[in-house]
Amino acid sequence: MSEFSQKQSNTVSSFDVHSIKADFPILQQQVNGHPLVYLDNAATTQKPEMVIEAISHYYRHDNANVHRGSHTLSDRATARFESARDAVAGFINSPASCQVIWVRGVTEGINLVAHSWGRSNLQAGDKVLVPWLEHHADIVPWQLVCAERGAELVPIPILDSGDIDLDAFAELLDERVKMVALNHVSNALGTVNPVAEIIRQAHAVGAKVLLDGAQAIAHYPVDVQALDCDFYTFSGHKLFGPTGIGVLWGKQALLDAMPPFLGGGEMIQTVSFSGSTFNCLPFKFEAGTPHIAGAIGLAAAISYLQGIDRVGAAAHEAMLLDYTLALAADIDGLQRIGAPRQAASIFSFLLAGSHPSDLGMLLDQQGIAVRTGQHCAQPLMARLGVPGTARASYSIYNTREDVDALMVGIRKAKSLFG
Ligand code: PMP
Repeated sequence: MSEFSQKQSNTVSSFDVHSIKADFPILQQQVNGHPLVYLDNAATTQKPEMVIEAISHYYRHDNANVHRGSHTLSDRATARFESARDAVAGFINSPASCQVIWVRGVTEGINLVAHSWGRSNLQAGDKVLVPWLEHHADIVPWQLVCAERGAELVPIPILDSGDIDLDAFAELLDERVKMVALNHVSNALGTVNPVAEIIRQAHAVGAKVLLDGAQAIAHYPVDVQALDCDFYTFSGHKLFGPTGIGVLWGKQALLDAMPPFLGGGEMIQTVSFSGSTFNCLPFKFEAGTPHIAGAIGLAAAISYLQGIDRVGAAAHEAMLLDYTLALAADIDGLQRIGAPRQAASIFSFLLAGSHPSDLGMLLDQQGIAVRTGQHCAQPLMARLGVPGTARASYSIYNTREDVDALMVGIRKAKSLFG
């Protein structure tokens, strides 16, 4: 059980998984002749009716470009777009809305920091640390900027459990480390990283910390001020919102000092051929027409989440993982990959005698959607010595029956693989 759900376990839960599931129209269908069992939530979550409706309403009634119109629709679109930013600010407890920068998702959020902050702050001999269990989105942008600046990208070792090796981390820390970038929760193994401790230690040597919240934001409350991270980024589509919209949050002094990432309209104050001056936050980082409907859809997703019992939801997801582990223990040859000290509701596994992708196909034939492969974490897979894994990742609408179906599916696959 997570700290969050444990802390609150004395309160009476109003969480009802069946009424939550009814809010997601896509889940009410058959796939390959079976009721859909959607267990690929770490890749993307499904959207509640409220989000679909908010996007549809925007296009039916309010669609216009923002910040530049002198007409009613543009004013309405701008008001809804900026109130979506306020909703995000409230959701993550940002001191100000201007610290919420719209990006396409975590990938763009990390690239923005690597290119803007990295290019202006990294020197030859500096180091950027990322744990061995990172997603490629938190490796490749740093590789690119480190190569350009003559800095070094250093992996932080992990234990076989999939936890960060905190002793090794402490040894790597010195005043040459300028950035520690890590996921809050691992997409491949579900590891919930001890981010508060990592941030404290990194700050003690003067390093900044970027948290990739892709897998945390839908499951745990995120308070950027309590965390004291320097940057936090997440994608809307993993939070029941649309694809193509996400958030980069940063401490204001850092964002103010950073040069623009992309150039174009909206991000400027003045332009002439002798040079340009730039807009204030957040617009300095938002060149071009933004994903207006995406921001409105994301605000609707946040509002949906704020309307449910999140403590109960977290306890429910923790129960789903516990239930999975209990049932999995009874299947010979079914091996959990990683066993982190604290795990989110992600079950990464292998079945002896089968390749994960064959297993994934067989499960799909039974209407069960899991992800198979390397989960954009090739260094992690190499470190663990596995070709990839099959991954079931749970969300607020998954039921115990979904876990039962997964186990039936795995047993059936096992009998076919012999
Ligand atoms: N980091 C982590 C931990 C992720 O799980 C993902 C998505 N799989 C990403 C980064 C990239 O997110 P996006 O594709 O939405 O930019």
